[in-house]
Amino acid sequence: MQLSDLIKKLKAYEKKPDITLIKRAYAFAEKAHEGQTRATGEFYIEHPLNVAYILADLKLDDITIAAALLHDVVEDTEYTQKDIINNFGKEIANLVEGMTKIKTLKNLSREDYHAETIRKVILASVKDIRIILIKLADRLHNMRTISVFREEKRQRIAKDALEVYAPIAHKLGIASIKWEMEDLAFEQLQPEVYKEIRKKIQQSQKEREKEIEKIKKIIDEELKTTKISCDITGRPKHIYSIYRKMQKRSKSFEEIYDLTALRIITDNVRHCYELLGIVHSIWTPIPKEFDDYIATPKSNMYQSLHTVVIGPINKPIEIQIRTEEMHAIAEQGIAAHWKYKGHGSDNEFDQKLKWMMEINELQKDSEDAKEFLKMLHIDFFEDEIFTFTPKGKVIELPKSAGVLDFAYAVHSDLGNKCIAAKVNGLFVPLRATLKNGDRVEIITAKNQHPSRDWLKIVKTSKAASKIKKYITLTQKVPIKSFKKEEEIKKELEAWIIDVDSMSKPEILFSRCCRPIPGDKIVGFSRNMGKVNIHRNDCTAVKKIDSDRKKVSVRWVDSIGRIVEIKVDAENRTGLFAEILNTLIAQSTSIKHANAKPIGNQFVECSFQMETSGLKHLQDLIQRLKKINGVRHVFIGNVSS
Ligand code: MN
Repeated sequence: MQLSDLIKKLKAYEKKPDITLIKRAYAFAEKAHEGQTRATGEFYIEHPLNVAYILADLKLDDITIAAALLHDVVEDTEYTQKDIINNFGKEIANLVEGMTKIKTLKNLSREDYHAETIRKVILASVKDIRIILIKLADRLHNMRTISVFREEKRQRIAKDALEVYAPIAHKLGIASIKWEMEDLAFEQLQPEVYKEIRKKIQQSQKEREKEIEKIKKIIDEELKTTKISCDITGRPKHIYSIYRKMQKRSKSFEEIYDLTALRIITDNVRHCYELLGIVHSIWTPIPKEFDDYIATPKSNMYQSLHTVVIGPINKPIEIQIRTEEMHAIAEQGIAAHWKYKGHGSDNEFDQKLKWMMEINELQKDSEDAKEFLKMLHIDFFEDEIFTFTPKGKVIELPKSAGVLDFAYAVHSDLGNKCIAAKVNGLFVPLRATLKNGDRVEIITAKNQHPSRDWLKIVKTSKAASKIKKYITLTQKVPIKSFKKEEEIKKELEAWIIDVDSMSKPEILFSRCCRPIPGDKIVGFSRNMGKVNIHRNDCTAVKKIDSDRKKVSVRWVDSIGRIVEIKVDAENRTGLFAEILNTLIAQSTSIKHANAKPIGNQFVECSFQMETSGLKHLQDLIQRLKKINGVRHVFIGNVSS
């Protein structure tokens, strides 16, 4: 690497770069670092020169390039901040100073160290975003030359890259730095896995190139009749990202890498959509795999159309379609944006950096580094969501995870007994999904147990395996404390009421003893085809007039029957919602819900809903009874 290479590169994108400034900065740095060598054996100046070159790759301005050349001068040589101000002015001096301030104390725990580093990077960069860009370039060059360091240092630098700097690059949308840093770090941290994936990629390379050529020809042919020009290229997949996908989705290399990835770059937004139409007319798109990040850009400014189609050899192809400017932003993120819009009072630009200001605010409030790091994580990793227990413990889940996944992630007992949850203070049913930052309180019931239906709801393998384990266990081993088989059979047969000797009687449940499904009952027929149902042990039964005819009655199970449940409770805020949510949590389809105040202290809530049988109804009643303030739960038309 020579200074002339850097100048050549700078001239290629800057209209009137201050070459004298670059030359002066280089000469100053070279003199300041004179006699210093890097672990690689090269002269020290090689490092700032390469850092400057990485920034020139991102097409940054001459001021940034000059500051990059000088970035280690104050830190590592006898020159001071004042010397930089005197020779290069305040703007460059501030950038160099920002870099110097990022140095973090070494004797911190790993977590604290990360939090502190990110905090300092952000703190420095709030003043000038270019500081973070120089820092990333600095780190990237360290990663590129990592092999010369001793083992322990290599591990540390690689971990920092993966856990701190790559996420920052991602957040700023600088994909080019993120990918390279991740792959370099991964190679250090898991060399065997890295080599294996790389080998597999190389083995299938030729075949893949052939397929891409084929696809290109077909699209080009189709475009002949249009005025659209575009550039179609195969998209390299990054080793670490393949590895992450394999891990996350528990899939093999072949399943992940089997997708051919293609990128189409064109000149304007209209052509993007036209190309999408053309691609979809040639090959069948896979539903749900289409994303329009042009209409709704990602939070790191990324814009593109994504689709997956079944390609010419009957295999899925991932296709991204975008304009050149979108591509620059996809690869260089904030750096490209900075170049297009410049800094200063650009509203859109400010908006993009709002998260940085928010983090800056947050770090002022955070009591300790860990708390801050926890909050940072929420912001930094988009694919995962971070949720919290009521005590503030972080539970990391995949994006689409729900209440049950959360419960099982905390503890399998919590999962097995989960009936619903409170998310940020509000009741949600079992099947509710969670968002980043949700505070989740799991609500349990002693008599709850996992069902097969749960397997359809959960997203994490952990939850699924625990549910399966529970189901197999309880199927094989009869649990003695359960009711005798005969009793269970009887119960299953018994819902709602079958009355001997009468066809379609009107059933009235007595108010005195309020029988609920499963209770031993007795019936008394009245005129007009009505039957009063009492519990066997009801004291009123003895007093009943002899002119009322005792009839034989029993509960009959009837799936899908509409029942009315009434809940008599002390009135309080949120009660109705809580009851409703308890019912929803049991996958009950509710036809009608109503609440009627009784005086100013009580309320009667009634619900008409479909049940899936006697057991279901019994469960519901048990749960409703546990709700704070509930006095009675009864069913159906209550007789006076
Ligand atoms: Mn450096």
